[in-house]
Amino acid sequence: MRTKTVTAASAIPVLIPATVADQEGVVVTDTLLPPFLVRGLKTDVLDHGRFSQSFRNAEGRELVAEKEEFVAVVELIEAYKLRMHPSRRGEWKRAWKEALRKYEGSIFTYKETKLLPEDEKKRREFGRQLIEIVVPACGLDLGTKSPERAADLWDGYFLLRSAKSNPQLLLGRIISKHLHQVRVVLWFSQGRLQPALYCGNERDAFYVRTMLSLNERKGWAVCPYSRCGKVFEQSRPDQECCSTRHTNAHRIAVWRTTSRGRRAMKNDSERRKRKSDRARNTKNRQRGNKSQ
Ligand SMILES: [Zn+2]
Repeated sequence: MRTKTVTAASAIPVLIPATVADQEGVVVTDTLLPPFLVRGLKTDVLDHGRFSQSFRNAEGRELVAEKEEFVAVVELIEAYKLRMHPSRRGEWKRAWKEALRKYEGSIFTYKETKLLPEDEKKRREFGRQLIEIVVPACGLDLGTKSPERAADLWDGYFLLRSAKSNPQLLLGRIISKHLHQVRVVLWFSQGRLQPALYCGNERDAFYVRTMLSLNERKGWAVCPYSRCGKVFEQSRPDQECCSTRHTNAHRIAVWRTTSRGRRAMKNDSERRKRKSDRARNTKNRQRGNKSQ
């Protein structure tokens, strides 16, 4: 089966280790190591079973928390991207809040803070940079003009709930955590030497992929149908579910939660009950007639 290369729309390909059978080229290194075999990340990594396989460690143990965090990131990015959607732009803040509430327990990185300079002069300079450059760039408001106070606030900022309402910061931190092992490389493929991003495992490659699609309208999404929840590649920017079947099933499930839907379901079940009562009565009558 031919699968579309995930990075087709991105300028730079994402590479993962490959075998002799599925390799698409070799990465050249400057060390004495021989070049190694790679292939581009493709949508088949999202296939059933294959995706779960990517979230297992070397001993085969399932990495449940890691998988949940990735699904959370995909859904958060989906909400964040609604900003670029012409007719749904106004929905993104609500969608973001909803996704955060749903995945609050699955996101880890905001608990870490980096040590700040202790030297008073350096700390003041750091606070000044925060106020003049960092805070406005992130679209934040620390509510202070004092550099010392800004540095103090920043120190504990990621421990505060308010930091989570800032998509740029939160996504930036979570995704960056997974980029430590990613390398910029050169690879030979189809007779050309090309730049690429090499990831030692598929999990890291997933984060690179989501990073590259941050400002693309299409990308990976999580199917909202309650019995699915699968990560899939969108074929249109507004594709919500992984398949037409799930689109219909999800639409019905949502409709059932509305007051009209609840009323219709109640009427329907009453109608069915009346029908079965009538059938039972007729049967009983027939049985009664026979025994006479
Ligand atoms: Zn689905």
